[in-house]
Parts: sequence; C-alpha cells; structure tokens
Amino acid sequence: MQALAVFPSEKRLQLVDIPQPKLQDATGVLLRVHEVGLCGTDREISSFEYGSPPPGSDRLILGHESLAEVVEVGRRVHSLRPGDLVVAIVRRPCTDAECRPCRAGRSDFCVTGHFTERGIKQADGFLTEYTLDDEEYLVKVPKALADVAVLIEPLTVVSKAAVQARAILDRLPYEPGLQRGLVLGAGPVGLLGAMVLVANGYETVVYSREPEGGDKAKLVHSLGASYVSAASQPIETLAEQTGEFDVIFEAVGVALVMMAASRLLRANGVAVLTGIPAEGAATEIVVGRSLRDLVLKNQAVFGTVNAGRRDYLSAIQQLEQFMILFPESVRRLITHRLPLADAARTLTRTDGIKSVVQLNMDAA
Ligand SMILES: [Zn+2]
Ligand SMILES: [Zn+2]
Repeated sequence: MQALAVFPSEKRLQLVDIPQPKLQDATGVLLRVHEVGLCGTDREISSFEYGSPPPGSDRLILGHESLAEVVEVGRRVHSLRPGDLVVAIVRRPCTDAECRPCRAGRSDFCVTGHFTERGIKQADGFLTEYTLDDEEYLVKVPKALADVAVLIEPLTVVSKAAVQARAILDRLPYEPGLQRGLVLGAGPVGLLGAMVLVANGYETVVYSREPEGGDKAKLVHSLGASYVSAASQPIETLAEQTGEFDVIFEAVGVALVMMAASRLLRANGVAVLTGIPAEGAATEIVVGRSLRDLVLKNQAVFGTVNAGRRDYLSAIQQLEQFMILFPESVRRLITHRLPLADAARTLTRTDGIKSVVQLNMDAA
C-alpha cells in the first residue's frame, strides 16, 4: 500500500510503498484511513523546517488530522468495534515517570518535551491506507458527522483554548453582558474559532489579510459575524473602528499581530494565542502600554497548544452544534478533496481553506 513520506535528511517528499500492517497487540486497533486534513504544520514538515522520523527510520509518514474506520480490534479492546469511525489523538505521552501531565493522560501539557506526535514528531502519521493504533488514543466519532469529521482535530485546538479562556473568565465576580469576540486570522483554525464564539453568543469580528468580499469574508458573514480586512484597516487602530473585545482568539502566528492582541482587549478581557511565530527577526515595539493595560485592566494573555481527550470530546459536541447552526458554512471550510497521489503537490498550494486527502476511495 502507499503512503506519503518525508525524508528530512535527503530533503525529499514522495509516495512510498509500505507493507499493510497486521494487528498484534491486545489493545491494538487496525484502521482504514478515510480522510486526512492538511495544514500549515504539514507544509512546514514537507519543506523540511520541522518534523522528525521515528527512531531508527529515515522517513516520516505525514498526516495528523485523521478520520478512520475501525477494521479489526485486539481482544482487550472494549470501546470500539469494526465499522466505527474514529479520530486519533495526535500527541502521545513521554515515558518520564516524573512527567505528571503525561502520567495523568494529558500529554498535551507534557513538561519534558519528549512526547511524540503522529505525523509530526517521531511517530508515523495517517497519510496511508491502513494503520495501527491503540484504543487509548482513539476517539469515536458519530457517523452523522462523517462528511466533516476530519475537522475535529483542528477544532480540538480551539476547544482546549475555550476551556481555558472560560476558566479565566469565570474568575469575574459578576455576570458579563453581551460579550464581544475577535478572531485574528481566517485560516481553518481561526474560522473554527469564530464558529465557537458565534455559537456561544459572542458578537464576533474576524480580522485577516484577505480582502473584504473574498471567499473567507463571505464565509464569516454566513456565520453572522463581521469581517475586517487587514488591507483596509491596520491592526493598531482596529479597536477605534470596531471597539474593544472581551475575548481575542489569535491564529496568525505573526509576532507583531500577537503583540497587538492585548491592546485590543477590554478591561477584564482574555486573549488566547495559538499561532506559532518564527523566532529570529527582531521587531521594535513599545511594550510599556500593553503591560500597563494588562495590570491596570485585569487582563489575561495565554498560549495554548495541542489537545487532550477531553478536548476531542468537546470538539465533537461543538461540531454537532455547528452542524445545527450553520451546516453549510462548516462544509465550506473543506475547499479541496484530493487523492493521495496529489497530496504532495497540494502541500505547496495556499489557496482555499482546508484541503483534505481521501484514501481508500474505492473501498468507501
Ligand atoms: Zn494540523
Ligand atoms: Zn511528558
């Protein structure tokens, strides 16, 4: 069977032929992969900036945004059966006995950095026809969500951010009135973030590079949110046009935009950062005002990465809610569906929103 693999030391990305895996472990699950979403992380790995093969291998099979069908289960697997649809948790625990988060089943909060991630760091991914996993890392997905369930993994990042933002907002000793939310960035994660804000009753603004009137702006409008283009409105003066925000969800990964986020907050507001800026490039900014506001206005800014099982379960619930509120908008997030043979080429394109690789198309 075929798989898409990156060979980092040779700077090569290509389809490889690998043997079909066989179920061995009592808690193992044999999976037939249905769909794999592609994202910026895959683009970074396939341009050799990031990612590492499993120990002893010279190649890493790509793909972490999975949707698969259970084909066969080990004798000690009780929660899954053949025919079930599942999404795999990406990050896997480190082996350090002292790592409390990993030992508590929350490797997304790992403190050693020695975790592995399927399709990213020292563990093969899902861009292949069949693969093995362990029951412990699989989350069952309702079949009604099949056509959009590949969005669950990127949505888990938003779900985890939302749980933490809520914990911070819960510190406020009063009932907030109508709350305003801002999303920075209109990629898949930003747009899913906008959906979470809208679904929770926030008056929502999405701010991104793309022009007003473009496809992303239209999708934002279809949610009942507003769109402001960075082309017509510098971020420094955004709050003058739109007002300030109680919650800001950043999904851009540009240092200057991330630094600007806290200056757009209302008193007592919270800004969540999820983009990963490049290191290096020095930028000159005046931080005094941001830090003063942070203190004098009881504001909070925090970063979040990855997600644990709880966030996968909450992402599934959120996706079910989205499919009641704005099903067509959710479907429009997936702009390209393509076969494995075209995946490598697709990793170089940046148009559309979410590209999804379909596998086993004749089996489906
Ligand atoms: Zn991703
Ligand atoms: Zn750990």
